[in-house]
Amino acid sequence: MKKIQSTCNYCSLACNLDFIVENGKIERIIPTVDYPVNKGFSCIKGLRLDRQQQVYKPSSLPRLKKADGTFEHTSWNQAVEQTAGKLTEIVEKYGPESVAAISTGQLPLEEMALLGHVLRNYLKANVDGNTRLCMATSVVAHKQSFGFDAPPYTLNDFELSDTIILIGANPVVAHPIAWGRIRANKIEGKKVIVIDPRQSETAQRADYHYPLKAKSDIKLFYILANVLIGEGWIDETYIENHTENFEAFKEFVADYPLDIAEEETNLTKEQVLELATLIHEGKNVSFWWTMGINQGYEAVRSEQGIINLALMTGNMGRPGTGANSLTGQSNAMGSRIFSNTAGLYGGGDYDNPVRRQAVANALEIEESLLPTKPTLPYNVIIEKIIAGEIKALWVVSTNPRHSWTNNKTFQEAMDKLDLFIVQDIYDDTDSSADCDVFFPVVSGVKKEGTYINTERRLSALRPVLEREEIERTDFEVFFKMGEALGMGPLLDNWKTPEDVFNLMKKCSKGMPCDITGIEYDALPNSRGIQWPFREGELLKEDERRLFEDGNYYTPSKKAKFIFEEPLENPIPLSEEFPYVFNTGRGTVGQWHTQTRTREIEEVRGAVSEGAYVYLNEKLADDLGINNQEIIEISSINGESSLFQAILSNTVAYNEIYAPIHYVETNTLTPSLYDSYSKEPSYKTTPVQIVKGVTKNEANKN
Ligand code: SF4
Repeated sequence: MKKIQSTCNYCSLACNLDFIVENGKIERIIPTVDYPVNKGFSCIKGLRLDRQQQVYKPSSLPRLKKADGTFEHTSWNQAVEQTAGKLTEIVEKYGPESVAAISTGQLPLEEMALLGHVLRNYLKANVDGNTRLCMATSVVAHKQSFGFDAPPYTLNDFELSDTIILIGANPVVAHPIAWGRIRANKIEGKKVIVIDPRQSETAQRADYHYPLKAKSDIKLFYILANVLIGEGWIDETYIENHTENFEAFKEFVADYPLDIAEEETNLTKEQVLELATLIHEGKNVSFWWTMGINQGYEAVRSEQGIINLALMTGNMGRPGTGANSLTGQSNAMGSRIFSNTAGLYGGGDYDNPVRRQAVANALEIEESLLPTKPTLPYNVIIEKIIAGEIKALWVVSTNPRHSWTNNKTFQEAMDKLDLFIVQDIYDDTDSSADCDVFFPVVSGVKKEGTYINTERRLSALRPVLEREEIERTDFEVFFKMGEALGMGPLLDNWKTPEDVFNLMKKCSKGMPCDITGIEYDALPNSRGIQWPFREGELLKEDERRLFEDGNYYTPSKKAKFIFEEPLENPIPLSEEFPYVFNTGRGTVGQWHTQTRTREIEEVRGAVSEGAYVYLNEKLADDLGINNQEIIEISSINGESSLFQAILSNTVAYNEIYAPIHYVETNTLTPSLYDSYSKEPSYKTTPVQIVKGVTKNEANKN
């Protein structure tokens, strides 16, 4: 019997787990007791990673679609050669930008980096990730306000904060281990505050809940800032020494008096004043947000509204404080920094000659091999496929036919492609079932590499089980495709995950995310190491936060107050579409499009098989809708879906909440994006409820 410590590759906590393996089988999974993130706990998803040892697929060999539309399994060599040949043909005929890929925040950083080398450096194609759907707004907000994409906290700040403010975040369901850390906080008089239109599972357990109007968050932050300034509840010394642009911000928020609170946010003056008082009275106030903020049409500025509150009250850089964005996926952070998509490896812009040369030197390649611009974002890739400009798409470990906003547009794109490649552990997802080439890869329990979690902690993914001879990792598929495309010596330094990790280390040198002090071999069986950790440094503590010295990564070393007049809602409610359709996670056991969690019997037995929404009881009564009745919801995007109505007063009268785990949900979300980051606006779609769907009609759909 062996015990192998590895990383859970679902959510952004990236818990560590001990896999007990006997006779080539995972017998048991035990959350690692002395791992600082999860401290001996985990959720059901991590505990049932043993399901991934028996991933169902008919073959571990690639599957190709034949001219007559039928499928055949072929050898790896044949599939790779044929696919590389077809990609080359397309590039020769239409140019390198006729090829694109969409990757994921679920792979180890070494695999992402290698894909970036093959497709971005060598082929000059566009590669975006599904992290665009969840974290792009935070990336931009961090870069503009702090000078680098740098979430400042350590998870221990949950336990050290006396005032924990969760905004558009529902950790009870989405980040259960983070909620456990909040519960472990023993500070006397600690307050947990939730700002969310919905009475989420977290709001139900909080000390205070502020149910604001959907997408009035940015105005609430400006009103709060104005109140804090007016009352003198700000930290002038911190503002003076460590920030810039405060005077302009002060002048700007003067136009957001408390008097407008009720009309703009649905919160009373008293509620907003109470919230401002709680912020003022807290000694160590921490602000945490996630998708409820990230996935909005002006999310970057909303997030900066939160950052501004933390800066002006001096709640940065101290234990239990911070403007803290929680990421979604296990390696969203690795994807942001080491995938060569939106920025250079290790950070930095493609048009910065000094940084370009440093990265080229680290990789031992000609500087001209590096891309000259960031990738086209996800939405533009889809638009260009539909317009016929992008001819080949390679989708890696993600399921856009389900998760992409206004998801029927992805179907439209799929139908236009000359070459559609899907690489996944399952061959029957909404996206992979009909692709031209399917590369079946092994799951995380048979791979190695490195994850970076939400608090910047690197940890090791280690192979728990041995692979069969015909099984391949994502790394091997990328490498073989690189060879078949003709990269030759350009792959010499990229042969193993460890080689790639070492290249990424070199690329990170001197950057805020410097990991030159971390040895690949030091990560297994460790407590993980947060970046930055520079060569020659000694690791004195497990929990490190950024900006303790008040220095930021901007040229002035000061954080910036950034603000802007809130936008008019581009798709407001109307008589035709009078209800707000909000989306988010449904249960702890379900993950995203359920590709993986559908295999967990305990989850399958406990969740609804079909799509459902929460509907306000009074609204249902007014519309004559019964509990569990099937209703049709039609969206401003022109589509409709059927859902079972679950009556609940956790949603406001004119709001509907739909779990994201069903393909019907993102059929209704719009093609609307935050203008700075191009992250989709998933949370506030105007919809109408159509009654009178018969059981037969429901079944047909
Ligand atoms: S899904 Fe998240 S919280 Fe659950 S075990 Fe995995 S990393 Fe931990």
